[in-house]
Amino acid sequence: MTGGRICPRCRAGDVLAVLRLPHTWTNASGHEVRGVSEVLLCARCDAGDPAAGPVVTYFAVHGSVRPEHADRLARALRHWIDRARPPRPDEDALRAETEAWRRGEL
Ligand SMILES: [Zn+2]
Repeated sequence: MTGGRICPRCRAGDVLAVLRLPHTWTNASGHEVRGVSEVLLCARCDAGDPAAGPVVTYFAVHGSVRPEHADRLARALRHWIDRARPPRPDEDALRAETEAWRRGEL
């Protein structure tokens, strides 16, 4: 589906689907910044995710998309897309680090 791309999170799982979401945020100086975030569906990382799991299971069972299953797979993908959110690792990681630093863990 995506030409054999490997997941950047676990560096081992196949990327089954890529969702590009328009994404707006406010930067430190208060200006609105527009960009596009990629949400990857990884065969390993997302196997246990309730929204992505059915898609992962489909590819684990069938290997690739079969025409007779197009409707079923489209429903599973829509379910995932409806729940997918742009990743915000920078902000969350920064906040977690700040918290850890405050608690004297760093
Ligand atoms: Zn992964």
